[in-house]
Amino acid sequence: MRESSPNTLLGLTLQELTRIAEDYGQPAYRGRQLFDAVYRQRLDSTEEISTLPRSFRANLEENGISVGLPKVDRKFVSTDGTVRYLMALADGQSVETVWMPQGDGGEAGDGSEAGDSLNTPGRTWDRATICVSSQVGCAVDCQFCLTALLGVKRNLTAGEIVGQVCAVLGDHGVSPPQDRVNIVFMGMGEPFLNYDNFIKAVGLLVEGVGIPESCMTVSTAGIVPRIYDLSGEPVRPKLAISLNASNDELRTRLMPINRKWNLEKLLAAARDFRLRDREKLTFEYVLLDQVNDSPQNARELVELLRGVGAKVNLIALNPGPGIEFQTPEEERVLQFQKILIAAGVPTFVRRPRGRDIYAACGQLKRTLEVGITSG
Ligand code: SAH
Repeated sequence: MRESSPNTLLGLTLQELTRIAEDYGQPAYRGRQLFDAVYRQRLDSTEEISTLPRSFRANLEENGISVGLPKVDRKFVSTDGTVRYLMALADGQSVETVWMPQGDGGEAGDGSEAGDSLNTPGRTWDRATICVSSQVGCAVDCQFCLTALLGVKRNLTAGEIVGQVCAVLGDHGVSPPQDRVNIVFMGMGEPFLNYDNFIKAVGLLVEGVGIPESCMTVSTAGIVPRIYDLSGEPVRPKLAISLNASNDELRTRLMPINRKWNLEKLLAAARDFRLRDREKLTFEYVLLDQVNDSPQNARELVELLRGVGAKVNLIALNPGPGIEFQTPEEERVLQFQKILIAAGVPTFVRRPRGRDIYAACGQLKRTLEVGITSG
C-alpha cells in the first residue's frame, strides 16, 4: 500500500508544512500560509499561493511539490440534486465522492438534525452532505454492496481523503464553517481498515477546512478494535455501525466479517463507546426483502440494542448488478420501523439519494464498470 506522498501538500499538518517551509529556508510562519492556502482557500496549484514569495513558489515547483487535489474525472448529476464525482488520483486509480444538498429545494430526510439556513440567493439548499471514500475498493465483502465486488486496491492517503472534500467544496463554491457542510465517511472502503489516514484526515478537516467534528460521521462494518480506538480520540466524528442483521447466523451470511467480530463483541464495543453530551450512536440496517426485514427480525433487533441508547437508520436496499437481494416494499420498511419505535428505539428511514446516477449507498463502484455512460 502506498503511503502519503511527500510531493503533495494536501494531507500534511501545520507542523509538517512548517517543517517544509523551514527546509526551504523560509520563516516558520510560511507554514501557516501554506496550511491556509491548501485547506482554507483550497487552491489548486502552488503557483496560486500569492501570500508566498515568488521565489519560494518557484522552488516548490522545481522540486515537483504540488497541492495534490484529486482531478474530477467525471460528474453525474441526479434529478434530486445529488452529484456523483469520479475522482482521478495521481497513480491512475479512481474513487467516488458524492455531494448531497439538503433542505429548502434539496431533499432532506436522513434523520439528521437541521443546520442553520444559509439564505444565499440562488441556492436551492441550505446544507449539504459530502460522502467520501476511504479506500480504492473494499476488502470487507458485504454481500449486498457493489463496492465489495471490486476487492480492495489500496488505502487512500490522508491527502486523498481531504482532497475529495476540497475538490467538491470548490466545485460548489462552498466555504465551511459559514456554509453548513456535513461529512460522512460512507463512500468506498472501510475507514477503520485505513484508520491512521482516516483519523489524520479528520484532524485536517476540522483544523484546516473548518468543518466541526460534530458534523462528521464515520461508518464501520464493525472493526471492533478500532471502535475502541475511536472512542479514545480527542477529535473524532460521530460513529455509525453497519449492523444489517438481527442475529449472528444472518449477519455472518450477509457480512462475513461477523466471523471475526460477532454481535456480542460488536455490541460490547458499542456499549463501551464514550459518547459526548447529547451524542447518540447510530446503527445502520440495510433492509433486504424477505431476508432480514421480518417483524421477527425487528423484535430481535430491539432485544439486541437494549441498553445501548442508540438510534437506528433503516435503508431499503439499493439494488445493483451482481447483487442477489431484492428491495422490500415500502410497507415492509414502515412495519419494521413501527416495531422499533413502539419499543422505544428512535428509528429513521433513509431515503436513497441519487439512485438514478448510481450514487446511493452501496452503489459506488467505478462508473465504467457499472456500465453508466451518460452524465
Ligand atoms: N464500510 C463502511 C462504510 C461504507 S458503506 C460500512 O460498512 O459501514 C456505508 C453504508 O452503506 C453501510 O451502512 C452499508 O451497510 C450501506 N450499504 C452498503 N450497500 C448497500 C446497498 N446496496 N443498499 C443500501 N445500503 C447499502
